[in-house]
Amino acid sequence: MKRLGILFVISAPSGAGKSTICSSLRQTPDTVYAVSCTTRTPRAGETDGEDYHFMEATDFQRRIGAGDFLEYARVHDHYYGTLRQSIVDTLRAGTDVLVDIDVQGAKTIRKSTDPFISDSLVDIFIMPPSLEELRHRLEKRGTESAGQIDFRLTNAAAEMKCWREYKYTIISGSMEEDLTKFRAITRAERYLSRRIISLEG
Ligand code: 5GP
Repeated sequence: MKRLGILFVISAPSGAGKSTICSSLRQTPDTVYAVSCTTRTPRAGETDGEDYHFMEATDFQRRIGAGDFLEYARVHDHYYGTLRQSIVDTLRAGTDVLVDIDVQGAKTIRKSTDPFISDSLVDIFIMPPSLEELRHRLEKRGTESAGQIDFRLTNAAAEMKCWREYKYTIISGSMEEDLTKFRAITRAERYLSRRIISLEG
């Protein structure tokens, strides 16, 4: 069976459990995690080229000018963007791509006038069980200051209002529950007849 790849766009307020899904999918051969570019500084334990392509604002601006981004947005006072070419090449080769982007970036991709992108798009929102639980998870993660956590929670409240724009919504529970729900979506989407190009091996 030959088919085109699926562009899985996953959005969730920071701390909602998205990185768990993303890191578990990184380990599967049928999905490629698209590493985003950002102008924010790396957190402890983050690796350039693996978690993000960390870049200077001038470099980011140059890439915007060159049209290299499928989408980009300013999130939490920094720029984040998804590079277009490697995603398109991977999808054409029949491999699925996972991108972790904010609600603005998802909106941009949804509005794409390129039929290749809109046909391949499957967007999923991960909804935290509550803002209190999100605060608890962010505090437990311990990578942001109290002020940064408040800022992220304000943004989270705004992002959570966008869930209806997405094809799927997963209410975040335990790590295992989130993964099971996510896998149910990926499995069903992979067997859509319209994605199949040929049934001859
Ligand atoms: P963090 O700084 O916690 O890694 O990410 C902050 C936010 O930026 C998250 O909501 C994440 O989904 C979003 N983000 C990460 N990469 C991209 C990207 O390439 N484009 C957009 N629009 N948002 C991104």
